[in-house]
Amino acid sequence: MKTRPSFPAQLDFANPPKRVFGAVATPPGAHQAASASAQSPSRPAAGHGLDSQAVRQNMVNKLEAQGISDRRVLAAFAQVERHRFVDSALVNQAYEDTSLPIGLGQTISKPGVVSRMLELLLQGAQARLGRVLEIGTGCGYQAALLSGLAQEVYSIERLRGLHDKARANLRDLRLANVHLLFGDGMLGYARGAPYSAIIAAAGGEAVPQAWLDQLAVGGRIVAPVALPTSGSGKTGAVAQALMVIDKTAGGCSQMILEAVHFVPLKSGIA
Ligand code: SAH
Repeated sequence: MKTRPSFPAQLDFANPPKRVFGAVATPPGAHQAASASAQSPSRPAAGHGLDSQAVRQNMVNKLEAQGISDRRVLAAFAQVERHRFVDSALVNQAYEDTSLPIGLGQTISKPGVVSRMLELLLQGAQARLGRVLEIGTGCGYQAALLSGLAQEVYSIERLRGLHDKARANLRDLRLANVHLLFGDGMLGYARGAPYSAIIAAAGGEAVPQAWLDQLAVGGRIVAPVALPTSGSGKTGAVAQALMVIDKTAGGCSQMILEAVHFVPLKSGIA
């Protein structure tokens, strides 16, 4: 497998211990802040038991059972508290493998799908990724996961309400390498380019040309896209699949993987 650039390499997840969770892994760098915050004794007790590492570990075990094996991805899921990103009425479902509403008709994707996409994103990459572009910040959960997996994270959201919500959700974590942007992610974010990876949490008809242009040679895009034929789909449901695009000096190659169901990629801001 080819090695992908890491601009420059940071070695914190290069040799993750076999079982980094359980004993609470503390990767260095920006994620340390998340860890410190997550374990801060000054944080008020939430009273629902979801602050416990064991709850996240249980989710991680299920992800492993589903076939996720990248230690860096599993460590990120063991560390970031998903219940802090969903509304209080839904916190009891935060560690189930289910998508949940985050407001304005959008959803936080199920951990199974997010972990699969992150694993694909990291495949063949050394240690951490370099600069990563995330399309669809939503509540900010995936951006927090990416913080420990990439050197810099640029995350764009087109809905002002969610952009603000993500900012509030991420404030306490003080993730210095996460940059939240309000705008139309279909245009990418040229100022952060070239990216070693681009990940989309919303699915369009095709991958926008801007993403291909802003991807570094050796980089990878993981995104849901509409399938060309959807004859057998449910009425009103768009058939989507995960697409992986690798950019090489000679051009781009693409793979279509399993079916997924993401909210639509829309142009413009609102
Ligand atoms: N990664 C998010 C998932 C959010 S759902 C999380 O962890 O919560 C997908 C998000 O993509 C929605 O918030 C939607 O508003 C946003 N989106 C759709 N089209 C977009 C576009 N063109 N640019 C930026 N965000 C977009």
